[in-house]
Amino acid sequence: MSLIIKNGTFVDWETLEVKRTDLTIPSSRSNQLIDAQGKLVMRSLACAHHHAYSLLARGMPAPKRTPGNFEQILKYVWWNLDSKLDHEMIRASARGTALMCAKNGVTFVIDHHSSPMAAKGSLEIISQAFKELGLGHLLCIELSDRDGAGALKAGFEESENFLKKNSPAALLGLHASFTLKDDTLEKASALMKKYKTGVHVHVAEDLIDQSECEKKYKMRVLERFQKYGFLDSAKTIFAHGVHLSEREREIFSASKAYLAVSTESNQNNRVGVFSSRNLASERIMLGTDGMHSDMLQSARAHYLQNHHTENIDLMTVYQRLRNVHAYLVKNKIPGDEGNNFVIYDYPSPTTLHSGNFLGHFFYGMASADVDTVISSGQVIIQNKKHTLVDEREILAHCQEQGERLWKEL
Ligand SMILES: [Zn+2]
Repeated sequence: MSLIIKNGTFVDWETLEVKRTDLTIPSSRSNQLIDAQGKLVMRSLACAHHHAYSLLARGMPAPKRTPGNFEQILKYVWWNLDSKLDHEMIRASARGTALMCAKNGVTFVIDHHSSPMAAKGSLEIISQAFKELGLGHLLCIELSDRDGAGALKAGFEESENFLKKNSPAALLGLHASFTLKDDTLEKASALMKKYKTGVHVHVAEDLIDQSECEKKYKMRVLERFQKYGFLDSAKTIFAHGVHLSEREREIFSASKAYLAVSTESNQNNRVGVFSSRNLASERIMLGTDGMHSDMLQSARAHYLQNHHTENIDLMTVYQRLRNVHAYLVKNKIPGDEGNNFVIYDYPSPTTLHSGNFLGHFFYGMASADVDTVISSGQVIIQNKKHTLVDEREILAHCQEQGERLWKEL
């Protein structure tokens, strides 16, 4: 069975060659014909670091105390929120996030989940939600010592259960060095090796991660993680990497691990500015850190910030946006094969051709232009509407669960 897109202006995601052509995509669903009417057709996007659990935070009441630094942002906002999540709130967050992703042309999500008081079964709920909306996904739940031994034990059990059922399509989640004790990392390392997976962990997002590590362990965060073998896995994803020393940059570049940058989140939390100096650029990916589900916006933010601070060019940022595909192929994670496309209804005021596509992509196109999305050969968005679910029902579900959550905060 196949899906045919005719009359598309096809943009090759690797060469950026632009040509008018018809496309035939293998599909396991049904034979279908889409008339693109000249619209732009290209490979869909993927997010390398997301937090679906944070969706219901949008517009929530201000915390009781105003955070003055990153640690307080975590304590007063996020650790308060994630400890109140129950299964229905997690389901609403995941369905809502999947809807936002789909509508932005994002068909694959690497998510980092946290619900320390409702760990059991949480990853399966998220997985089902992404499946319901037709999205590829790679999940983990973050382990941390911050909520005590009971929550940690539940987190380990949930991690192992999910790894057992879903390997290779699962990661081992860790919060960050500064909330993880040595014996927790020891156990995490053993579990990672048992399931031949990698860790997905925040690294040097704020200076506190480094200062605590130097104080307690007399080493830097990546040196600590190197001891546990986290850098030996090509599945490992380090989120942020804002505060890396020259030595850590060398360690990363000599390793197999990947890094996921979320520029807007760093700006929002005022933690500092990421620099790609001496980091293997082909293993730098982009995420949203749960702020939103719009990868085109993330790429634009990364470009504007790092063009300003280190004169980065459009092609480098575009490649970082696309490195996630190589990560998923290399690690044999299903759901991001060559049958994932997005069609943009982009009304260009100037000519668009092979030589200037990136100028349009970064300065003109917007996720609001997404008209059609094909995920694993299945049309999930058509005429800007989700084809598999009732969007109003999903948003109403989110609002109802959001109200419940806000009362608990
Ligand atoms: Zn994050």
